[in-house]
Amino acid sequence: MSESQNFPENASLAQIGGVLRDHQSFVLISHVRPDGDAIGSQLALGYALIAAGKNVRLINEDGLPDNLAFMAGSERIELPPAEPLDVEVAIALDTATKPRLGDRALHAASKAKIWLNIDHHVSNPRYGDLNLIDATSPATGQILYQLITALELPMPAETRDAIYVAVSTDTGSFQYPSTTAKTYEMAADLIRRGLDVGTINSNTYDNFPYRRVELMRALLNTLELSDDGVVANWTLNDQTRIDLALMPEDSEGLIDIIRAIRGVQLAVFFEELHDGKIRVSMRSKDRRLNVCEIATEFGGGGHALAAGIRMNGPLGEAKKLVLGAIRRSIAAAGM
Ligand code: AMP
Ligand code: MN
Ligand code: MN
Repeated sequence: MSESQNFPENASLAQIGGVLRDHQSFVLISHVRPDGDAIGSQLALGYALIAAGKNVRLINEDGLPDNLAFMAGSERIELPPAEPLDVEVAIALDTATKPRLGDRALHAASKAKIWLNIDHHVSNPRYGDLNLIDATSPATGQILYQLITALELPMPAETRDAIYVAVSTDTGSFQYPSTTAKTYEMAADLIRRGLDVGTINSNTYDNFPYRRVELMRALLNTLELSDDGVVANWTLNDQTRIDLALMPEDSEGLIDIIRAIRGVQLAVFFEELHDGKIRVSMRSKDRRLNVCEIATEFGGGGHALAAGIRMNGPLGEAKKLVLGAIRRSIAAAGM
């Protein structure tokens, strides 16, 4: 059973199961700029519900990114329709705050009578009617695995594979400290259920477009290391995005390259977005440096060791503010 049940604010798996059983129509939504856990969670729960005979729509504000189009069943991920859907239940997955579902997706789900909020972000303010937030879980996909197996929902191949991709991508291939014995036991169970490890990892990690490597080259040219070697950052400016015809997903995971530098405890990725906003991605290697707390200062959020911000530009100003907050956090940690 899920550790989430130790938290009284959470709905029980049985209560969530009741909502799933007693309704027929569902819309499942995940966050803007979806990653493997976002799309994977939609497919995982979506296909379990479809196999249970439910009417299910899977929508995302930004649609299905190219790098996840290999996922079985992913063709059902749609852009939000202009008119609100006639659905009874909306389920937000892997989404730290309600606005991160996106305006169009929220409008499409606006007729839902009940909201479920299933997530693993510690900063999640519990915006659902029923919430299942487990910050000890390395991925929303793992919470769904526990939910689906506990409720004895069907686990078709789409669900099985999607859970694996969700958890693999959110754990840096089962490496981050959030990975537990339960995570490996889950993976073993998925393999016993017929998952093809070699093929799914190859599709996830050995299949990047050339432009992603060009992006790596451009990012390396902007790499900065703090004098004490503790903070590394790099920057993607708007012009590079245009020159290389980049897609939002092209930068996914690249921050791990600078996170991996010996001595670096905190890695930061700054990205200029189309609309002039700045996306900041942060990774910490040290529990004393809580990047979720730093992100929260600027209206962002996430996890203790991986967090993000969407803030106002210009780039230089955003960099100064965030790097300043990081220095304060390092000083406060006595490092
Ligand atoms: P990223 O650096 O974009 O991979 O995000 C790291 C973690 O922080 C993920 O779990 C995101 O869902 C979360 N996150 C990223 N940006 C934001 C934001 N603006 N607000 C809240 N959470 C965020
Ligand atoms: Mn995510
Ligand atoms: Mn996640």
